[in-house]
Amino acid sequence: MRDAVYDGACHCKALAFRYSTAISPSGWSVRACQCRFCRMHDAHSTSDANGTLQFTAHQPAALQRYRFALKTADFLLCRQCGVYIGAVIDDGEGRFGIINTHALKNTPTDIAQVRPISYDDENVRARISRRQRKWTPLTVTSC
Ligand SMILES: [Zn+2]
Repeated sequence: MRDAVYDGACHCKALAFRYSTAISPSGWSVRACQCRFCRMHDAHSTSDANGTLQFTAHQPAALQRYRFALKTADFLLCRQCGVYIGAVIDDGEGRFGIINTHALKNTPTDIAQVRPISYDDENVRARISRRQRKWTPLTVTSC
C-alpha cells in the first residue's frame, strides 16, 4: 500500500505537521501516555517507523519546545494557542517524532482505539532506544 498523507496543525495553524504512513488508521498504534504532561493535554500519540513526518513552523516565534523528566525529547507546543502537536527526538544520528492525533485536521473515522500506556520504568537508554525503533523518521523539518 502507498503511503497516505495526514495533515495536522495547532489551533491557530502557526505550527503544522505532515505525517505519511502506509498503515491504515484502523491499524495505527494510538497511545495515551500516562505521564502527567500527556494526561494534562489529553495527548494521543501515534508513529510509524516506516513512515515519514515533517513538522513546519509557519510562525517560528510561536514554537515552544518543552523538555521534562528524562529530557530526551522536545515536546512541541504553540505559544499562541497552547496546543501540543507532537514531539521530536534527535539521537545524534537521526531525528524521529510522534504526532498528537488530536491535532489532525481530519480525524480518520476508522482510527484505532486509543490504549493507555506507561513508560515510567524506562531509563534514558531504554527510552531513546524505543523511540528510535517506534517513532517516525523526520524528513526536512523546521521544528
Ligand atoms: Zn497555535
